[in-house]
Amino acid sequence: MNTNPVVLITGASRGIGAATAIHFAQQGYAVCINYKADQRSAEKIAQQVRGIGVKAEIVQADVSDETQVLTLFAKVDELFGKLDVLINNAGILKPQMPLLEMDASRINEVLTTNVTSAFLCSREAIKRMHSGGSIVNVSSGAAKTGSPNEYIDYAASKGAMDTLTIGLAKEVAKLGIRVNSVRPGLIYTDMHRDGGEAGRVDRLKSNLPLGRGGTPEEVAAAIYFLASAQASFTTASFIDVAGGL
Ligand code: NAP
Repeated sequence: MNTNPVVLITGASRGIGAATAIHFAQQGYAVCINYKADQRSAEKIAQQVRGIGVKAEIVQADVSDETQVLTLFAKVDELFGKLDVLINNAGILKPQMPLLEMDASRINEVLTTNVTSAFLCSREAIKRMHSGGSIVNVSSGAAKTGSPNEYIDYAASKGAMDTLTIGLAKEVAKLGIRVNSVRPGLIYTDMHRDGGEAGRVDRLKSNLPLGRGGTPEEVAAAIYFLASAQASFTTASFIDVAGGL
C-alpha cells in the first residue's frame, strides 16, 4: 500500500506539468500524471518518476469534461486511496489573433480547458482532502498583461483562474485546505508552438528584466513551495515566475 503523500497533476505529460511531477517525486510524493492525448509522453514521465523510487500512474482524461473529471478522480481513489495535493496545470493556447478574428468555439474551448477544469478538479479534490490539503493553480503572467493581439481569450481564462484562487482559498481555509497560484511567463515549452510561434520566448525574452526565458523546472520549484509545509501560512497568494514581467 502507498503511504507517501499523493499529488495529482493535470496535464503532466510534458512541459511544466512534467517537470512538476519529477519535482514532487524527488520530494517523496506518489504522483498521478493526468494527460489528454499523448500517452507515450505521459508513460515516459511516469517511468522517470518510478526511477526516483516512488509510485506513479498515468490517467487519461480531458479535464474540461465533467464526466471525465469524475472518472479521473475515481481512478485516483482506486490507484492511490487518497489525495493530498492537486496541481491545476492543464492549459491550452490557440493561434495568435485579435478578438475580431475569434469565434465562439475557440473561446469556449480555451475557457473550459483552462478554467472550468480547475473548478471541477478542485471540487473533486476538496471532497477527498479530509485532513487538509493544498491546491496550486497554474495561472499566467498573461492574466495581468491581457495578451493583446495574441490571445486575450487565454489571458482572460487566467484572470478567471486568479479570482478562483482567491475565492476558493477563503471558502476552504476552514477545512485546512490552502489554495495558491503561480503565474509563469515566457517558459520554454511546446505550448508556444501550439500558439503558432515556437520561437516566441526567444523573440520576447529581452523585454524581461532578467533578460532570458524560464525553464519548467523553475516553475515546478515555485509550485512545490506553495504546496509544501514551508508555505503553511500562505493561502490566496501568487508567485510570479516570469523573470520580472
Ligand atoms: P504544454 O507544454 O503545452 O503542456 C500542456 C499539457 O496539458 C500537456 O500535458 C497536455 O496533455 C495537457 N492538456 C491539454 N489539454 C488538456 C485537457 N483538456 N485535459 C487534460 N490535459 C490537457 O504547456 P505548458 O507550457 O507546460 O503549460 C502548463 C501550464 O502553464 C498551462 O496552464 C499554461 O497556461 C501555463 N503557462 C505556461 C507558460 C509558458 O510560457 N509555457 C506561461 C504561463 C503559463 P496532452 O499532450 O496529452 O494533450
